[in-house]
Amino acid sequence: MESPDEDLISMYQKIKDIDDTATPAVKALFGMLPEELKGLMEELGQKSYRAGQLAEALYRQRVTGFEEMTALPVALREELEAQGYGVGMPELVQTARSVDGTERYLVRLADGETVETVWMPDGDGGERGDGSEAAAEEEAAEGLEGNAGPRRDMRNVGALERNGYSRATICISSQVGCAVNCQFCLTAKLGIKRNLTAGEIAGQVAAVLNRHGVKIGRDRINLVFMGMGEPFLNSIRKFAEEPLRPKLALSLNASNDVVREQVMPITRKWNIAALLEAVQTLPLGKREWVTFEYVLLGGINDQPEHAREVLELLQGKKAKVNLIVWNPGPGIDYHQPKPEDVAVFQKLLIDGGLPAYIRRPRGRDIYAACGQLKRTVESSPAAGAALVEIAPAASPRG
Ligand code: SF4
Repeated sequence: MESPDEDLISMYQKIKDIDDTATPAVKALFGMLPEELKGLMEELGQKSYRAGQLAEALYRQRVTGFEEMTALPVALREELEAQGYGVGMPELVQTARSVDGTERYLVRLADGETVETVWMPDGDGGERGDGSEAAAEEEAAEGLEGNAGPRRDMRNVGALERNGYSRATICISSQVGCAVNCQFCLTAKLGIKRNLTAGEIAGQVAAVLNRHGVKIGRDRINLVFMGMGEPFLNSIRKFAEEPLRPKLALSLNASNDVVREQVMPITRKWNIAALLEAVQTLPLGKREWVTFEYVLLGGINDQPEHAREVLELLQGKKAKVNLIVWNPGPGIDYHQPKPEDVAVFQKLLIDGGLPAYIRRPRGRDIYAACGQLKRTVESSPAAGAALVEIAPAASPRG
């Protein structure tokens, strides 16, 4: 039998093969590390402090073209351009705006590939119960107690008045397409094309921050890797060793391996027991909970017996469950769960001692919600074209 590692290697090989064929229009400066910028400046016979100025322009000022790099001499900017360099920050080429304020962007990368990124003013409640500061704010705003006891309302009132949101969430993509093939997800229909580079991932954030005039240090932003692609695959154990570790949210989506294999075929390689074993290696802080995401699919995984199985699986663990009512998409043959089944499911978990929250769906009308990211617009605008704004559409289904 093929081992999980062999499977993973072939998945990565597939991604790498396509990577090698990518031909970026410019050599992107955005994404280069400080030492790489320093090396580049040395190559061009420049003083090393120029690398600092370049980094400042790219990552603090978030410039999008050489003309904005006013701290650098014109001759140096011309030299960089002549050598084929460009800022190379991903471009927002299309945006669809939901009635709830969520925006979904089609983001074009330097080699012409596109991914999707989502802006959610005030998030979707996904952090509730995970012990984070964002969770405390969410819980306080909703009058919930949270895992760490009663909280005072720490919402950023100034930001709320100024921006219309207290804290926004940006949902970013990590791959062009996805190889994991979850059956309820539109992104899976794209297959996998390639991994994004670190610069392309950070660039999505920078482009969205620019669009909303976000000032770092003043406005508050959450980042979630829940867009297109699976940033983890086999790396939970490595993640556990990181000194600076973001919160972990895992897609459970079923209460036993039989159902999970149907909705997430990757379960055949890494079953629920293997997943939970990897989670056990996480050194959790005092107020840290691991989030298990659970997409409720009508008649498939949303019945009381499933809730009881979830309780059994997570008993005694520092865990919380985010319940996500499945977001419909064309060509996907699942049904939304009945509201009463969702309520019973949540109650069973809570009564069993497991914190359970229902995620607020954001941007369903523009296909920006969980599992809905796919390039729904076939022809993306040509390079240099103005950003295309799309008005909210009627709800896609259900
Ligand atoms: S749900 Fe996530 S991991 Fe699964 S196919 Fe969609 S993008 Fe990939």
